[in-house]
Amino acid sequence: MMTDHSAIDYDNIRESVARNLGRKNLGWIEIVTRCFESIKEHCDQKNREYPRVFQIKQKFGELRIYLHEPEHDGPDYISLHINEACREANRSCEVCGNNCSQQWLGAWVRNLCCFCAHSEARRQQRDLSNYPLNANLDCSRKCTNCGYIGQLAHSPGRGDQQCVACVIESL
Ligand SMILES: [Zn+2]
Ligand SMILES: [Zn+2]
Repeated sequence: MMTDHSAIDYDNIRESVARNLGRKNLGWIEIVTRCFESIKEHCDQKNREYPRVFQIKQKFGELRIYLHEPEHDGPDYISLHINEACREANRSCEVCGNNCSQQWLGAWVRNLCCFCAHSEARRQQRDLSNYPLNANLDCSRKCTNCGYIGQLAHSPGRGDQQCVACVIESL
């Protein structure tokens, strides 16, 4: 029955997380797996039922975790843990776990570090110097070559600031 469905199988947490988030997204798989492992441990200790998970997904570059029965009596261990995992994911690359923030790739928002954003652009055969990331956003911390917003470095021999992936590619 559909109502019995849980996105997380507590006997195989990592595998269910990978199935929900996509196997390539190791950065977020790690964060969400750790989250549900400690929820499981907590429930075992308290003799509590495991929360049934309705959905785990990336939306607008943010991690969303929805439970079937959200708790009504204020925040407790489970929702605090889920909120903390979402906060951590929102500052971590989906693919590799590097520190980063949301990036616009055309119409899509993904949470990718500069290296993973570059490799995603290559996969899409998108030339970032002609079609940069975050084209619709104004930000002072923006790579002058590819549009990545985040950690920048001075590119050698040029006055401008570029993301680390662009600096390495220009060496
Ligand atoms: Zn990455
Ligand atoms: Zn760049």
